[in-house]
Amino acid sequence: MKVAVFSTKVYDKKFLEIANINQQYEFAFFDPHLNKDTAILAAGCPAVCIFVNDEADATTLETLAANGTSLLALRCAGFNNVDLKAAAKLCITVVRVPAYSPQSVAEHTIAMILCLNRKIHRAYNRVREGNFSLDGLMGFDMRDRTVGIIGTGKIGVIVSQILKGFGCKLLAYDVYRNPEVEALGAKYVELPELFANSDIISLHCPLMPETHHLINSDAIAQMKPGVMLINTSRGALINAKAVTRGLKSGKIGWLGLDVYEKESDLFFEDLSGTIIQDDVFLRLTTFHNVLITGHQAFFTEDAVSNIAETTLTNITEVLQGVSCVNEVKAEPKTLSQTSTISSPVA
Ligand code: NAD
Repeated sequence: MKVAVFSTKVYDKKFLEIANINQQYEFAFFDPHLNKDTAILAAGCPAVCIFVNDEADATTLETLAANGTSLLALRCAGFNNVDLKAAAKLCITVVRVPAYSPQSVAEHTIAMILCLNRKIHRAYNRVREGNFSLDGLMGFDMRDRTVGIIGTGKIGVIVSQILKGFGCKLLAYDVYRNPEVEALGAKYVELPELFANSDIISLHCPLMPETHHLINSDAIAQMKPGVMLINTSRGALINAKAVTRGLKSGKIGWLGLDVYEKESDLFFEDLSGTIIQDDVFLRLTTFHNVLITGHQAFFTEDAVSNIAETTLTNITEVLQGVSCVNEVKAEPKTLSQTSTISSPVA
């Protein structure tokens, strides 16, 4: 059975081939993203495997379906890049990897907070140039700082656990309360209260119409002066222009991004030596108090190995007609797929 793998990197190939040792899949590896122009490459492949920046919109899915694809296997958790209604209409089953390693993303989130706080990115460069001055490198103790966690699912809960270990106070916002987070002493509040009282705000909710540009000018205006904002979830949770204005005015004191709204033109590629055209992104890179990583929060050996194994298990289950717990259906969307939910937030 042939599986077309889009946006293939060396590590995807390596870990999928390892996971395939006891299976019989024939992979067709493609470097480009899946989109309406490249979908034809998958002709004759019943399964198509994609990642975060592939575009499975209605037109792309129509081309896939017309050429024999009936299964779309995401090797990631988020599925904001798939038109689920179109997939259902075309009888394309969509599966994902919901929890390959929430630790990997949570730990990267903490790495970003600590790096920005203690200015490790600046210290690294200074020391290499023989500059041992501490001017401008002062940080703050994490103990007793208030951290607002938006989205308390699998990743949000681990971030909360680690921060609890630092002695932070936790505020949380989610459309559902997570008892594990409440057990850590976190207080669920509405967004305005979280914005107004958090020294650090970390985003861990999915991207969907309700959360698109959740962090906009209005939200930033409600935040504490000098707030630290961290986004390791999805780029479009943040309006990058509004955040840039917040950085220029000093309202935002630190910004850590592992994701960016227009990242599909940039991330995962070596663009050194080319002229980057995205002025909004380039402006962000000019601030000394901004740390950007190129969607690498998931990138641990454990996570990439889990992704490959779960992806092949998902494909096998769907092919064998066994019910696949990782199937993503058009309705009722994200909330029903959240394993940690308990009672709705009032
Ligand atoms: P999850 O489904 O376990 O948790 C998401 C939480 O967000 C749930 O508790 C859900 O109730 C909540 N939520 C839903 N709608 C909300 C809203 N409107 N406002 C606030 N909260 C809302 O997902 P997870 O595994 O914790 O992953 C979180 C996000 O992290 C994913 O959606 C994905 O976009 C992102 N992610 C990023 C990377 C990376 O490498 N940077 C890797 C994996 C996942």
